[in-house]
Amino acid sequence: MNRVFNFGAGPAALPLEVLQQIQHELLDWQQQGVSILEIGHRTKAFLTMIEQVENDFRELLQIPNNYKVLFLGGGARVQFSMIPLNILADKASADFMVSGFWSRLAKQEAQRYCDTQFVFNMDEKSREIPQHQQWQLNPQAAYVYYTANETIEGIEFHRVPEVGSVPLVCDMTSCIMAEPIDIKRFGLIFAGTQKNLGIAGMTVVIVREDLMQQPSALTPMAYNYLTQAEQKSILITPPVFAWYVLGLILQWLKKIGGLTAIASINQRKAEKLYATIDQYDCYQNSIAKSCRSRMNVIFNMTNKAIEDSFLQQAEAADLFYLRGHKVFGGVRASIYNAVSEQAVDTLVEFMRDFAQRHV
Ligand SMILES: *Cc1c(COP(=O)(O)O)cnc(C)c1O
Repeated sequence: MNRVFNFGAGPAALPLEVLQQIQHELLDWQQQGVSILEIGHRTKAFLTMIEQVENDFRELLQIPNNYKVLFLGGGARVQFSMIPLNILADKASADFMVSGFWSRLAKQEAQRYCDTQFVFNMDEKSREIPQHQQWQLNPQAAYVYYTANETIEGIEFHRVPEVGSVPLVCDMTSCIMAEPIDIKRFGLIFAGTQKNLGIAGMTVVIVREDLMQQPSALTPMAYNYLTQAEQKSILITPPVFAWYVLGLILQWLKKIGGLTAIASINQRKAEKLYATIDQYDCYQNSIAKSCRSRMNVIFNMTNKAIEDSFLQQAEAADLFYLRGHKVFGGVRASIYNAVSEQAVDTLVEFMRDFAQRHV
């Protein structure tokens, strides 16, 4: 077996322990004599499992009782539409902080259902999230939307934005459970599971109960938050395997010591990488330090001509999937929870060695 170091942006690395557990119990899950892939979603064993997953999820994020947690099929961007359909109620407009690719797309999608306004609009050249004084907040907006971590550009909010009394909606797909957060600050949080929560196929939505009471009549049944909350997210056949893997990831996180423990590991990993980028002239990351992503570390080669050779030599050293997004180019090291400190140390060592050979 030769497993490489996986820096892919998503679907992304899983902890080896979790993969081994999946392998170990695949053929006979929980003494049911069948695999998790073959069992009905209304069986007692499955219902017990999803109750445990919700309990662990709530415990790790300290979710208050007035929030529902929904486990819905489909990718994260399904929620770009389902959020306005479910929570606009009688409002006509929503506010968007556009800090990169994903928040721009979310605004475009929401525009089908309501008027959307910019709180601010960063373009490709912006290296910093605008200061609060420059924000245009509409007090009549149904919600203020932002993307906590822009996975493609490598730009992250290091603090929850202050938006007054309008409910805050956040796409945390690429940074959920990377550190403790104060759920009470949010109206709604959602995250696709393929980055920090396991495998593709599911999106978790944490939503304050009072916000979901008036879904639009156009809301698809499968994504009606109220109905899905009443039906414990099994109104339609759910992605059972993604749900199961999510459960294993949560247990793994609890074993490590929860979100405080993983946050300090994540902090160390990001610091090591940025320190290496800043130390050598051959690497560049010009994003303001206060907004550099701790999950997706982006950099360019000062001499673009050696980028391919960097990536090829990295692969020869078992460092995989470092090529940046196809639109933006460059190098991107995604260092989600499941990417070990050892993987980052190996990358750092490679980068030092490469830099010394290319001065
Ligand atoms: C990956 C990603 C998405 C898109 O996820 P899909 O499941 O492919 O729709 C949305 N937002 C963020 C922040 C992401 O990182």
